Amino acid sequence: MSEPLRVLTATAAVLQDVPVRIDRDDVLRFQGYKKGTSVPTEDVLALFDEAVELGESLQAPRFVYRAIPVDAQSADTIEAGGERLRIPSIERLWGRLDAVGVGICTVGDAIEQRVSALFDAREFPLAVMLDSVGSAAVESLAEFANDVLCQAALPETLRVTNRVSPGYAGWDTAEQSALFRLCPGEPIGVTLNDACFMSPTKTISFMVGVGAEARVDHYFTQCRRCWMVDCAYRRAPADHTVHR
Ligand code: SF4
Repeated sequence: MSEPLRVLTATAAVLQDVPVRIDRDDVLRFQGYKKGTSVPTEDVLALFDEAVELGESLQAPRFVYRAIPVDAQSADTIEAGGERLRIPSIERLWGRLDAVGVGICTVGDAIEQRVSALFDAREFPLAVMLDSVGSAAVESLAEFANDVLCQAALPETLRVTNRVSPGYAGWDTAEQSALFRLCPGEPIGVTLNDACFMSPTKTISFMVGVGAEARVDHYFTQCRRCWMVDCAYRRAPADHTVHR
């Protein structure tokens, strides 16, 4: 990875060649399998292995990140950088914040282009599996970014919350444009159109809260994937990681 990330960086920081690994459980989840209850056949697993190998060779994971001081907070809103973001119950969930961190992650467009070519060639099973691989790849990258931010915050006695994205947790998708004004996607080649549709499609934008009193009560899942050794704040043992 490039240079260490500062969690309160005011200028956009770009991390490229991120050593992220695609989470195989996520791929099967995108395929509709429920862990422990539905088991894929050998044929599906062979297709899965082929698609993961292809996806790993095609992905170009990178993310851009910037922190913005919080000007005001209320039960359902955060004001920062001239934007007013409305997220239901955000103050109860995240507590008092010093700043918000906005990140945009992408694995590039090579996977979606190959998916499109496979559909054109009527190779439907591999096309559909590779599409799930692309979705899992960017999800793994966003998890990786959340862990990197948590790790960067600890030496500064700050905490980083879980991430939320427009379109989830009651946050209106239309506020995607506000997020892009706070942290443009241009340095990593991500654009947003008038319908709030991001390109490349295998992209996730997110926001985290940062602060000495930020709440991390439900950080167990995050810690389970985090590779940081001897973290004094770990809330759950690591059971797997998306770090290569
Ligand atoms: S183990 Fe948990 S608390 Fe420690 S850096 Fe990783 S995500 Fe953060």
